[in-house]
Amino acid sequence: MATLVNPADINPRQVANKSDKKALLDAIRMTLSVQSPAVRRNTQTFNRNRYAATALLPDYDELKDRARQIKENAISNLPELLFQLEASVRANGGHFYLAKTAAKANQYIRDLLLRHEAKLVVKGKSITSEEIKLNHALEAAGITVAETDLAEFILQVADEQPSHIIAPALHYSRERITALFKRKFTTDLPLDTGEELTKFAREKLRAQFIAADAGISGANLIAADSGSLMLVESEGNIRMTMTLPPLHIAIAGIEKVVPSRTDFGTFIELLPRSGTGQPLTSYVSILHPPLKAPSFAAPGKTAKPREFHLVLIDNGRSRMREDPILHEALYCIRCSACLNSCANFETVGGHAFGGETYSGGIGGSWEAGTGTLLNARFSELCTGCSRCVTQCPVRIDIPWLNENLRQRMNFGQSSSGAKSAFGAMTGSAPEDRVAPLQKQFFANYHVMAKEATRFSSLSNAVTRLPFVRGLMENVVGLDRRRKLPPFPAKTWKQLHRDEQQSGRAHMAKPGSPEVLMFADVFTNYGSPERGMAAMRVLREAGINVELSPSLPDGRAAISQGMIATARQQAKALAEMLLPYLEKGTVICVLEPSVLAMFRSDYEHLLDATTWEKFPRGRFLDPLQLVLSIAKERGTDLSQIFHASQSPHGTRVFYHSHCQQRSCDAAWQTIEILRLCGFDVVTSSVECCGMAGSFGYKREYYELSMAVGEDLFAQVRAAEQDGGERAVVASGTSCHEQLWAGMGREVMHPVELLVSTLG
Ligand code: SF4
Ligand code: SF4
Repeated sequence: MATLVNPADINPRQVANKSDKKALLDAIRMTLSVQSPAVRRNTQTFNRNRYAATALLPDYDELKDRARQIKENAISNLPELLFQLEASVRANGGHFYLAKTAAKANQYIRDLLLRHEAKLVVKGKSITSEEIKLNHALEAAGITVAETDLAEFILQVADEQPSHIIAPALHYSRERITALFKRKFTTDLPLDTGEELTKFAREKLRAQFIAADAGISGANLIAADSGSLMLVESEGNIRMTMTLPPLHIAIAGIEKVVPSRTDFGTFIELLPRSGTGQPLTSYVSILHPPLKAPSFAAPGKTAKPREFHLVLIDNGRSRMREDPILHEALYCIRCSACLNSCANFETVGGHAFGGETYSGGIGGSWEAGTGTLLNARFSELCTGCSRCVTQCPVRIDIPWLNENLRQRMNFGQSSSGAKSAFGAMTGSAPEDRVAPLQKQFFANYHVMAKEATRFSSLSNAVTRLPFVRGLMENVVGLDRRRKLPPFPAKTWKQLHRDEQQSGRAHMAKPGSPEVLMFADVFTNYGSPERGMAAMRVLREAGINVELSPSLPDGRAAISQGMIATARQQAKALAEMLLPYLEKGTVICVLEPSVLAMFRSDYEHLLDATTWEKFPRGRFLDPLQLVLSIAKERGTDLSQIFHASQSPHGTRVFYHSHCQQRSCDAAWQTIEILRLCGFDVVTSSVECCGMAGSFGYKREYYELSMAVGEDLFAQVRAAEQDGGERAVVASGTSCHEQLWAGMGREVMHPVELLVSTLG
């Protein structure tokens, strides 16, 4: 994996196409070494602003539902809408061209500009023009293209591709822009402040606007009933691009078409808030070109008549529309919320977590849809944490798209005797046995964990041997630098059986609610004491609890793109749980990633009839249940769990798991800890960076630890005001990451509560 190239010497364009895995790994090294501070600062600012802006929207959920419905209907009726749009554009006096491919779009635009003898074109920000490589096609025909968006201008000077869909140069710090301009332009100007840089660029661009023969814009949405374009922007350059030159060409993907101008309002509410967190961008233009007002003419020149061309681009979108998985990506309104809420994206940005055009969690589907599946390789950086799902204004299940891309990539692999034998031994579904050994190993973690726990002393001794770690790294890609938690001597199931046999487990009063605690494999084989603590907390709170058999739930398999294996495991687990669900039993799930499986992912894995019997609300985090029952009965939890009795003190730093927050099951823990008298500081990171098996993989270890740095820094900051805090976290992965990164003991909230009982 090590290469001799200094990461700082890698140009983003060299690693834009990640169909070769080495390009992805080089891109991660380059972004971590050069771009990460600026990417973090900017994405995290957008992220914070989005949370604040959407919290002020009383009808946020309804708006999201409406936006989703508009897009679903539009994509479903797309052929009819395109037909209607063509008629509207022509009735307005414009021209309409539907390009099947990128090459046809480029040819149409180039020929049109040559017919108009255009020498200089001003262009507003358009990711679709990046997709079709329009600038390259025009420049090859001798036409100069001037990017007028400040960020696009910077990238044109630097010869780099965008790293973000709405803030293309977000990876640049102000200092790097100053250095770039000084290197590329002959100037004595200081260019040391944002104002000086903007003024410098504006003066260059003003001359281009005055001299331009044509303007090329994109479009956020296009209304079929009127031919109206909607564009949102911050700088006003797009408005000038569309209104100053006599020839205006708007290019957009066919998925941008919606039935009517009245649909725009919903998206005007959602787009800026979801992107930058602004209630409204500085400029929102709705126009029906060609405009009636005369075009701009420099002093002494005559204004030319206006001409408007709408170039709609298919380039794979019709295929995506027919695709049972990728069609969902067509609902995307390119707001960037999924990029800004993604911990991996926040750390490396779109030059690593992105391809030649599209980036972030949704980017893989777009690269695969408009290019080739291999172009979507960077979607490996999606850990399935689900933080983006609740942030997407059109409710796209982004991790599910990426898991499917991964499955398709697995299916593209050649089979081998070793992979088949390993798959058969570990329980991979027959169709998943083509997946690489690393994926099959992590997908079937429970098989290895079960054996390792049976002989825990031996397993712990062997897995510490350097040559064994080296072997594991070479064969299944488990990074040797990652600390492995020891295997316990007894599983959760065994500890529970011992407790029952000894008669130590007290039961709550007869008639108390009865719940089933699901013995997930991560807790069963990894942290059985934590599982026992959860059961004790439930009983102390007056809830009787039974422990289920321990079966794999499919989480590990789905994250490796081994969907057939995940389906197989989900089916077996559903058979075990259905009798309980039919009786109306509440199922408590300690591991948040498994809770998220039951609440959402199983919709994809189970057949419709079985899924109907899986009511989301019946699956609860144990502390979610404790709080709701305590409120129902008026129980004072501080009378049961007194923080002052804890040997760990009352000062706590609490990190909730990413999927726990996506399931809206985290605030209850914080409330309970505070009710019991703990002084709780919470983390604000989207994910700890470990994300199941992600942080164990050799190729992603550095990225995982870099993501974790934000969390470690927050723990340190919380301790600056008066000494140590007990570090408490809710997920197995978070425990492993905090333990590895800080060398600190990490507790689960249920263990902290049990510690108060003496
Ligand atoms: S699921 Fe998590 S890792 Fe994947 S794109 Fe969404 S936020 Fe990023
Ligand atoms: S997938 Fe959703 S969150 Fe991401 S850019 Fe598209 S609309 Fe925005």
